[in-house]
Amino acid sequence: MKAGLRVAVAVAAAAVAAIAAGTAGAAGFTPGSDGAGDPFFPQAGNGGYDVSHYSLELGYDPATHVLTGAAVVKATATQNLSRFDLDLRGFTVARVAVNGAAATFARSGQELVITPAAGIVQGKAFTVAVDYAGVPEVITDPDQSIEGWVPTADGAFVVGEPQGSPGWYPVNDAPFDKATYDFAITVPAGNTALANGVLVSSTTSGGKSTWVWRESKPMAPYLATATNGRFDLTQYTTSGVPAYVAVDPTLNSANVLRKLPDIVAFYSSIYGPYPFDAVGAIVDDAKNVGYSLETQTKPNFDRVPDETTLAHELSHMWFGDSVTLTRWPDIWLHEGFATWSEWIWSEHNGNKTAQKYFDNLYNTPAQDTVFWTPPPAVPGTPVFLFNGTTYDRGGMTLQALRAKVGDFAFFRIMRDWATQNRYGSVATPEFISLAERDSGMNLGHFFDVWLYQPDKPTSW
Ligand SMILES: [Zn+2]
Repeated sequence: MKAGLRVAVAVAAAAVAAIAAGTAGAAGFTPGSDGAGDPFFPQAGNGGYDVSHYSLELGYDPATHVLTGAAVVKATATQNLSRFDLDLRGFTVARVAVNGAAATFARSGQELVITPAAGIVQGKAFTVAVDYAGVPEVITDPDQSIEGWVPTADGAFVVGEPQGSPGWYPVNDAPFDKATYDFAITVPAGNTALANGVLVSSTTSGGKSTWVWRESKPMAPYLATATNGRFDLTQYTTSGVPAYVAVDPTLNSANVLRKLPDIVAFYSSIYGPYPFDAVGAIVDDAKNVGYSLETQTKPNFDRVPDETTLAHELSHMWFGDSVTLTRWPDIWLHEGFATWSEWIWSEHNGNKTAQKYFDNLYNTPAQDTVFWTPPPAVPGTPVFLFNGTTYDRGGMTLQALRAKVGDFAFFRIMRDWATQNRYGSVATPEFISLAERDSGMNLGHFFDVWLYQPDKPTSW
């Protein structure tokens, strides 16, 4: 994600909050925890249940900025639940129902605390309906970037990494709780609403248009989008799936987007089949956002991207969207891989090789601690989540691995990582194990030097 965002700012102390332990209730029913245990975002996500599907009916009026939502969340209890939370920031909640029966609810920070009329037995599926409305709050991250439902001149630019999704829908905002999604988004007639997956229908009546999209592959909550406004929407088929390319008509588009099929085909050839049932791009005029995001099946671009940025975001369909970190400090598994993917796309086209990118960056003096630290697998604080090291030193780690194990083993590692973890949730030690298995080499020292030690690597 967030190609184009490079931050180097003062370290803020990482907030650490203990997850409130539930106290035993009647008949062994206890509250689900109010967080999912992430070291960087302890309140994000919740405990006690696992979501399988979101159905989101949204209406947006760009004139008033009011968003109206009716969400239905399907989940399964993973404990005997007396109470549970969803994440939702702002809005007035009008109604919450569990399995069709009114539930009591309370608000506390980003927590929507829901007490169903009766406890939910472990292993049981249940549905939660939430009706809400209001002007969405734009969320500012620890690195000072903005996200969530960000208003534009004609609609909204909707991006959620790492914590923007509760700014527009009630969600279990843990990256490992993947689910399928249905969207029905109503906007003024003439506007286009985009979301993940395939277009099911678009209908217009009474001066409004409703766009229905379906994401039928598992998706981490932060990868959902509902960007809307005036767009020229082009549809075609590539790599066996429908492509949806939406460009703000005020932008001088976008010859670069003609590269999309070739980029997807190339990454499919080296990383394994394209993982989703739609592909595309959303190019909006939202320069105040300052970055692009790999929203699943349709990356969002805040301006017309260059070819490198387009390749970066499309490579995230494999590394980030299909194969997703479990905990946010492992972000190099997304950004290092997408950075290296930029380089191999360049090399594939007969331009600068990945090794040349590596060599140029490696010339950075060891004294340049802003470049070399923190090490990619230990960003230490959410301020450094999208720091240059997770991109550049992360990409260098992969190129150094390629040089160490050779092309045959390296490309096998990359393909196996993508295919064996398809739609899954991963952590850095699993990548190290896979690299050792596929190469037959002991790589403990190699990865320690590249991923965990703060100094410029000198021997590996
Ligand atoms: Zn990225």
